[in-house]
Amino acid sequence: MNSVRLEGVGGDRHQFTVTNLGAVACPLANSFAAWARYGVDRAAQQILGSPLQRIETMGSYSCRNVAGTARRSAHSRGEAIDVAAFVLEDGRRVSVRSGWNASAREREFLRVIHRSACKRFGTVLGPDYNRAHEDHFHLEYGSGSFCR
Ligand SMILES: [Zn+2]
Repeated sequence: MNSVRLEGVGGDRHQFTVTNLGAVACPLANSFAAWARYGVDRAAQQILGSPLQRIETMGSYSCRNVAGTARRSAHSRGEAIDVAAFVLEDGRRVSVRSGWNASAREREFLRVIHRSACKRFGTVLGPDYNRAHEDHFHLEYGSGSFCR
């Protein structure tokens, strides 16, 4: 599968940056770009009142050591992205770890974008799935629909 490096993603009015992300498979990059723009950026504007400036990822390998699975991680094929935090234009930073149980608006923002990710990715895992995901969303390319 072809892969691509994603460093900037187009939003409604400007580009936002994506940090710490290695090469990912093209279909995943396309889904991620659409989610960032139509899911995250618009939810940030509507719920938090500021556009998105940056998405912080955890690179490609943070799920490699999830216990109890023999399955080869999608990260090793560039087909999954772990997202840790969102930085808004007004300077606020909403991380999955601190925001999941924070103020009502941050909680709503994170749950809305988690749900919208489920429409675009085959597998989405977050803090409600297990402790290994308490600090990030795992977004994996595929045709399934596993959303936790
Ligand atoms: Zn992951």
